[in-house]
Amino acid sequence: MPKRTTHTYSSEDAAREGPDSDLFVYYCKHCSSHVLITDTQLQKLPKRKTDKAYVLDKTKHLARLNVEEAGKVLLKRGEGKLEKQFRMNCLGCGLLVCYRSEEDLETTTFIYIVDGALTRQVYEKLLEAVQP
Ligand SMILES: [Zn+2]
Repeated sequence: MPKRTTHTYSSEDAAREGPDSDLFVYYCKHCSSHVLITDTQLQKLPKRKTDKAYVLDKTKHLARLNVEEAGKVLLKRGEGKLEKQFRMNCLGCGLLVCYRSEEDLETTTFIYIVDGALTRQVYEKLLEAVQP
C-alpha cells in the first residue's frame, strides 16, 4: 500500500472549523435543567417585537430541545388578531421556556425562546482545554 499524504477538505470540515463551530448549551434559569443545544448565541438572534422572544430559525441553526409539550394556547394580539402558540416547558420545573407557531416540531421553521428564560454555558473546544 503506497503511503501518500493527501489533504482533502470537505465542506463539513470547513463548517466545523469555522468561527461558529462551538455548540451553545442553554439551561433553564430557574432550575438549571438543560433545555436547548444550538450552534448560535441567543443574543445574536432577532427578537419578536410582541414579546421579545428570541427567534431561532431551525433551517439555519441547530435546535435540539429538551422540553415537555405544554399544549396549545391562543393569545390575543391586538384588534381581532389571534396568535397560536404551541408551548414547551422546562422538564425540571415546568416553566414555559419556548414555543412555536406550528403544531409539528419537526416541520416548524421557528422556535421562539422566551426572553430571560434560559442561561448559557459554552462547551470549550477540546484543543483549548488541553493546551498548557
Ligand atoms: Zn426549569
